[in-house]
Amino acid sequence: MSTSLRNDVPPFKTIVIKIGSRILAAAGNAERIARLAADVAALHASGIRVILVSSGAIAHGMQALGLTKRPTTIPLQQACASVGQNRLMSVYQSTFASHTILTGQVLLTWDDLRSKKRYLNLRNTMFQLLEYGIIPIVNENDSVGVEEIRFGTNDILAAQMAVLVQAEVLVNLTDVSGLYDSNPNSDPDAVHIPVVNQMSDALHLLAADRKNEISVGGMSSKLKAAEVVARAGIFYLIGDGFNRRLSEVLSSKSCSTVFLPARKKMSSRRSWMAFSGTPQGSLTIDQGAATAIIVKGKSLLPAGIREITGSFKAGDNVDIQTSPGAVIARGLVNYPSEDLRLILGCKTSDIAARLGRKEFDEVIHRDNLVVL
Ligand code: GLU
Repeated sequence: MSTSLRNDVPPFKTIVIKIGSRILAAAGNAERIARLAADVAALHASGIRVILVSSGAIAHGMQALGLTKRPTTIPLQQACASVGQNRLMSVYQSTFASHTILTGQVLLTWDDLRSKKRYLNLRNTMFQLLEYGIIPIVNENDSVGVEEIRFGTNDILAAQMAVLVQAEVLVNLTDVSGLYDSNPNSDPDAVHIPVVNQMSDALHLLAADRKNEISVGGMSSKLKAAEVVARAGIFYLIGDGFNRRLSEVLSSKSCSTVFLPARKKMSSRRSWMAFSGTPQGSLTIDQGAATAIIVKGKSLLPAGIREITGSFKAGDNVDIQTSPGAVIARGLVNYPSEDLRLILGCKTSDIAARLGRKEFDEVIHRDNLVVL
């Protein structure tokens, strides 16, 4: 790779880069986008697969409609996004064309990730684009995104994309150099934090939620995204893409914070179960079963199940919890909820007698289970 890297980020093959609205819509944006495209083109030329998650549709729409404040009503946000998304893509298309790179637009809502079928479809599309050397440019489909199906911020969408394409690195380009021990805008003595080893509640508190007229994320949604990618085994950088170049954010510890992942990268199937698919119900288990799953890496058997909620089919994704809300794992069930209600708490050897058949010993096989 021609771009040099900070020594705490390993070389990567696939990177997701999230670009915040201010980078694209504030004064000086033409130069900023040109520099960004040049750095992305350099990564691309060295064989790295790059996916952009770009905000800025609403901001571009606001400019077109002559609005100076971000609209508060959803219909006006949707109208701005509808006008602005075209403009945004046209900027990307012409900027990347000067590097002879094609771009492809991908607009998504949560519904596209919750369903396994649509998730896999989307993966195929992304991989096909990448195989052809096309840079996918992803945004939330804001003009149809009503509340229930919204990501809300592109920080979360970018984390989901990094999981979906199994990127090794996610970079969140914003207008600050990552985390500080206090707000750098109001405190001149704020100290920059170059590396975060472990996410903690303290970090959430520390990230004063700075909202402004055109960006919605603030630091707290960037930290929520950090939790997802850290658990999925992906390196996450938050850096200053406003005043600094992408190449500097990747190489210099002074203009970014890296969050080191908690574990090795997960397979795509497991990360869908853990982070994207919507659980259709939950199984409350006893302490013995919890220990077997977490410590010994065992499958879940009917004997350890105390309670079942929801209505689900065999193959659906469910939460595994030790008490209501205390979710410890997720997995794909072998039995539908009505059968499970008949065998909960029973020995494996009693399944056939209770159901009149036995297809599986396990309610959730180890291979279909992810400890969170
Ligand atoms: N999808 C929004 C847009 O393109 C941005 C959301 C965000 O900045 O997080 O304007």
